[in-house]
Amino acid sequence: MTTTPPTLQDCLALDAQDPLRDLKQLFQLPEGVIYLDGNSLGVLPAATPARVAQVVTGEWGDGLIRSWNSAGWFDLPQRLGNQLAPLVGAGPNQLVCTDSTSINLYKVLSAALNIAREDAPQRKRIVSERSNFPTDLYIAESLARERGLELVLVEPEEVLGALDEQVAVLMLTHVNYRTGAMLDMAAVTAAAHAAGALTVWDLAHSAGAVPVDLQGAEADFAIGCGYKYLNGGPGAPAFVWAHPRHASRFWQPLSGWWGHAAPFAFTPDYQPAEGIARYLCGTQPILSLAALECGLDTLHAADALGGMAALRAKSLALTDLFIELVEARCAGHGLGLATPRAHAERGSQVSLTRINPAEPSGPSGAYAIVQALIARGVIGDFRRGDGAAHPDILRFGFTPLYIGYADVWHAVEQLREVLSTGAWQAPEFNQTHAVT
Ligand SMILES: *Cc1c(COP(=O)(O)O)cnc(C)c1O
Repeated sequence: MTTTPPTLQDCLALDAQDPLRDLKQLFQLPEGVIYLDGNSLGVLPAATPARVAQVVTGEWGDGLIRSWNSAGWFDLPQRLGNQLAPLVGAGPNQLVCTDSTSINLYKVLSAALNIAREDAPQRKRIVSERSNFPTDLYIAESLARERGLELVLVEPEEVLGALDEQVAVLMLTHVNYRTGAMLDMAAVTAAAHAAGALTVWDLAHSAGAVPVDLQGAEADFAIGCGYKYLNGGPGAPAFVWAHPRHASRFWQPLSGWWGHAAPFAFTPDYQPAEGIARYLCGTQPILSLAALECGLDTLHAADALGGMAALRAKSLALTDLFIELVEARCAGHGLGLATPRAHAERGSQVSLTRINPAEPSGPSGAYAIVQALIARGVIGDFRRGDGAAHPDILRFGFTPLYIGYADVWHAVEQLREVLSTGAWQAPEFNQTHAVT
């Protein structure tokens, strides 16, 4: 049985009925842009420019050093952590916004290794997926070298089989950045614990994108990114969470003064603060934290409209629609689906593979197709593959806060045109840039 794919009119009707449709007004999206890259850099919230300006001129300019106290600068990492906590299933005072994802990973992986190996020094392995985000693998590689441990990289279907008495820590990204595949955090964590290993979860593509329940899943440590679905701005502070049973057990390795129990006592020796506060390192980037707060506000604006559950329902509807329209309207152009169809296994993005039907063993054309789309105002991105198992990918993120159903329809229509006219073959779309 075949059904006719939704029309533009159908999509406009869905937008009209969408309870989240007005949230788009919380953002400054340029005219004529359909932004499908919020999984890489979220959109500017409309409130951010004025808020940052106020922090610069009022709190810094007028308040000067007094603002550490009078403007609440000092505990901003904790305050934002408490705002973010309910979005990822963390409790109060369990999470701080600070540093970058890479740096936070170094801290938690180091602490997790200390805890896991305290009574089991024979556990010498960190297990992760080969297709995990490279910085995660590089940080783990460095820690493994430093401590004489082994980083074991496996394919997604091999993870559970790799859990044995040699594994100290299982380090995974909840939603894969390339494919958008989502793992069952509770089940995988339970399997790791049954094997005597701890878990470190990277929520870069989960926080603000899909419901996460760190405490319900009994997870051990988590980190995540502030500039993707949390709309905190380029290079926004990231976040770090440790389960309360672990938070105070070991020092994290970057034992700077902001993680000290009494930073302004200026003692020569280090005394770590209790709990997650010890995961801070040095003086915090207040301007960036102020921008991140505006990003978190955009997510909490959905609270009264059903919160993360409503965002998730719309996200799945948008990604379902995109998949259906691509399959119906772009057939015959060598596109394939890298993202799982099952809702329980899908994040908030759709990744398409491509093999050029005219030249199956030649360049995929995926990069140029994405460039041609960007020139038409449809912004997604490209991720290079490395052979048949990991082909080149066209990546499209769907942020239900500011993407509507008609946006999806127009995006697929542009993709259809770029493919059917061969517009992507123009030389200007085939030059590579530093950041893809
Ligand atoms: C985006 C992303 C990062 C980014 O790390 P930075 O330290 O901000 O550069 C790390 N891990 C994953 C899985 C990501 O998706």
